[in-house]
Amino acid sequence: MAATSSYRICPLCEACCGLEITHEDGKVLSIRGAAEDGFSNGYICPKGVSLADLHEDPDRLRKPLVKRNGRFEEASFDEAFAEIERGLLPIIEKHGPDAVGTVLGNPVAHRYGLSLYAIRMLRELRSPYVFSASTVDQMPKHRAVGAMFGSWLSVPVPDITRTDLLIVLGGNPMASNGSMWTVPDFRGKARELRARGGRLVTIDPRRTETAKVADEHHFIRPGGDIYLLLGMAHTLFDENLVRLGRLGEWINGLKALEAALKPFPAEEMAPLCGMEAETVRQLARDLARMEKAVLYGRIGTCLQSFATLNNWLVDVINILTGHLDSEGGAMFPKAPAFAHNTKGKPGQGRGVPVARRHSRVARSPDVMGEFPVSTMAEEITGAGENGIRALFSVAANPVLSTPDGEKLAAALDQLDFMVSFDIYLNETTRHANVILPPPSALADDHWDISFSQLSWRNYARYSEPLLQKDPEQPEEWEIIQRVVALLRGLGKDADIAALDDEMTREEVEKAAGPMADQVMAAVSAYRGPQRLLELELRSGPYGDGFGANPQGLTLAKVKAERYGIDLGALQPRIPEILRTPSGKIELAPEEFIADLNRVQDTLADPIPDLVMIGRRDVRSNNSWMHNLPTLAKGPNRFKALINPEDARRHGLKDGDLAEFTANGHTIQAPVELTEDMMRGVISLPHGWGHDQPGTKGAVAARNPGANVNRLIATATRDPLSGNSVLNGISVSMRRAQDVVTQAAE
Ligand code: SF4
Repeated sequence: MAATSSYRICPLCEACCGLEITHEDGKVLSIRGAAEDGFSNGYICPKGVSLADLHEDPDRLRKPLVKRNGRFEEASFDEAFAEIERGLLPIIEKHGPDAVGTVLGNPVAHRYGLSLYAIRMLRELRSPYVFSASTVDQMPKHRAVGAMFGSWLSVPVPDITRTDLLIVLGGNPMASNGSMWTVPDFRGKARELRARGGRLVTIDPRRTETAKVADEHHFIRPGGDIYLLLGMAHTLFDENLVRLGRLGEWINGLKALEAALKPFPAEEMAPLCGMEAETVRQLARDLARMEKAVLYGRIGTCLQSFATLNNWLVDVINILTGHLDSEGGAMFPKAPAFAHNTKGKPGQGRGVPVARRHSRVARSPDVMGEFPVSTMAEEITGAGENGIRALFSVAANPVLSTPDGEKLAAALDQLDFMVSFDIYLNETTRHANVILPPPSALADDHWDISFSQLSWRNYARYSEPLLQKDPEQPEEWEIIQRVVALLRGLGKDADIAALDDEMTREEVEKAAGPMADQVMAAVSAYRGPQRLLELELRSGPYGDGFGANPQGLTLAKVKAERYGIDLGALQPRIPEILRTPSGKIELAPEEFIADLNRVQDTLADPIPDLVMIGRRDVRSNNSWMHNLPTLAKGPNRFKALINPEDARRHGLKDGDLAEFTANGHTIQAPVELTEDMMRGVISLPHGWGHDQPGTKGAVAARNPGANVNRLIATATRDPLSGNSVLNGISVSMRRAQDVVTQAAE
C-alpha cells in the first residue's frame, strides 16, 4: 500500500491540535501539525510527535492480562471477561453495587467512546463511589461555575485573539496550550496579542515559560491567591470601579458580595500573598480601565485550600470589571454537541446538585457526582463491612497522581477484585486482577466532548481512525459495553450490538419521547459512539434538527470537511447559557460567602519557611508519557527548582541531590538553582516514581524520578470542591549527602 496522509486530532492534551499523519502498512512515517486546520493552524508540540512512539511502544498492552496465582498472564478477551464474571459479580450480588468503586483518569476525557460508555457503565453499576482525576486538578473550577452559572462546564475562557490585556494567575499556557481552555499555539496568539499593543501579565511563584514571553511577571506566595483576589475585588468597590454593563440585569447578590468583601482591603491582603498593596490595586485598576481585558486563573488556583473561592473570585472580578461574556474578555464557548448548557430551557434550569451524599469515612460531600479521589484509600480500608471491595480503574494511575500513593497502593492490595481498562501495566494497574487494553489511539476515531466546550473558537472537528486494529481487538466502547452486559446479568457472550441498540433507544426515548422512533431511524447509519455523536450533533445548537433545519450540522457534513467546520468566534451567551434556578448569575452563593470566615481565620497564620509547588513540562503529561523515547530523551526533567538563596541557606549547590520531607515521607531529587523561583518555594514535577516492582515500562524505569505525591497528606482538601491541596505544602530540605553522613555517624 502506498503512503497515505490522514488527518487526526491529537488525543494527548487539551489543546486538541489537528495533525497530518503519514503512514504506510500500519507504520507511522511522519507526524506534523495540519496547517490547513483553522483551529490549530499547524501547531504541534513534541508530545504530538510522540504518538508514533505510543503506537509502537512494546510495553503498550495488546492483549488482556489476567492475574493467576499472583502473576499476570496474557489472555484472550473472552477469557478476561469470563474472569470478570467469575470474580466481580458475586461481590455485587453479596454486598450490593456500593461495594464497587470506579476511578477515572485524565485520558477518559480525550477518548469519546471511552467517555460515553464509561458513563453508561456507571449508570448501570449505580454505585455512588466514583472518583476521578478532577479532584486533583480542576474540580474547584466546576464547583465555582456550577454555583454561579448553573452548569458544571459553563467555564468562561479568555477571548485571546480580541483581548488587550490577559492576566494569567497560576497557569502556564506556554507549556499546556491552555487548560480548562483549549488554545493550541498559545505562543503564537500571545505574540499577536503583544504585536497589536496588548499586554500579557503573569502571576506565579515561578517565572514560568509563560512569564518569559509576558510583559510583566509578579511572584505570589503559594496558597496566597485568595488574598490577592480578595484584595483586587475589594479595590473595585473601594475605588468605585465596578462596571457591570449589560450583565447588571442578570446578576443576583451584588450587595451581599460587597458586604462580604469589606474585611479584605488590599493593604491587609498584600503581605499575605507576598505582593505590594499598590500592585494588587493596580492589577484591579488595569482590568477595570481596559475595554477588552480578562483575568484567567488555572491549576495553581485549584490546588489550594481556598480553591473554590479562588475560582469564584476570578469570575467575580471579570464580572465586576465588565469583562464577562464580552468580546475580548472571558467568554463562553458554544459546543456543537454534548454541552449541558445548550440543552433544556435557555436561561434557566435546576442548577447543579451538590452534597447529595457524603463519603463514609471523611464525610466529604459529592461534587459533580463524585467523591474526592483522596478519600478512595480510606473508602476501601476504613469503612468496615460497607467499604469498597472491588474497583474499576479506567485509564487512571492514582497511585502516582494522587496524594499518598503508598497508602492507596496498600489499600488496592486489600481489594477482593479489580478491573483496569488501560494501555499499561503501571503502578496502579499492577494491583488489578484483569487488565483490558483498548486499541491504539491511531485506530480510534475522535471527537472532543469536553474540550469543544472550552475552546478559544467554536468548531466542529472529527477525525476517522487512520490505522486498522487487530481483528481480535474490540473497540474501546465494545469492551465497556461487554462489562455493562455482565453487570446486567446477560453473561459474557451477550449480543452487545443488540444491547447497544436497546440502551441507545432507552436514552433517546428519555430525550425525544414520542419522536423516538423517528429519531432512531434518522441515525440508523451509525452504531456505537458515532451514533451518540450523530444524535447530539443533529439535536445540538447548530444541528439540522433531524430535518427541521436542513442547513444544520450532521455527522456526515462534519466528516465531509477534512479540517472541520468553523462555527465562528465566541459570542455573548448571557442570559441564554444560564441554568440557575433564578435565571441569574449567582454572584454571592451562600456557601462561598460562608467560607470567607475560614479565610479570616487564616489572616494571622505564620508563613512557612519552605513550601513546595508542582510543575508542568511540555514533554510530560501527568504520569503516563514517560515511557516514550521521543519525550524521554534530553536533560533530566525530574529535578527540584530552587532559589539560589534558599540553596545557600541549606548548603546546597547546583546539581546536588537533596532530600525533601513532609507528611512523614521523604523523597530525593537533584536540585537546579534558578532565580526563576520565588524565595522559599521549591518546584517539583508530579507523575514520577516509576521504580515500583511489577510494572512494565522499560524507558520510564531508566529514569524513574520520585513520586512527589508521597509528601502530600490525603486529608488536606478544599472543603467546597473536595480538591486536594497539592501546592504550598510545607517541606523540609537538606542535602542527601548530609543525610548519608549522619546515618554513618
Ligand atoms: S499541544 Fe497537546 S494536542 Fe497539541 S500536539 Fe501537543 S499534545 Fe497534542
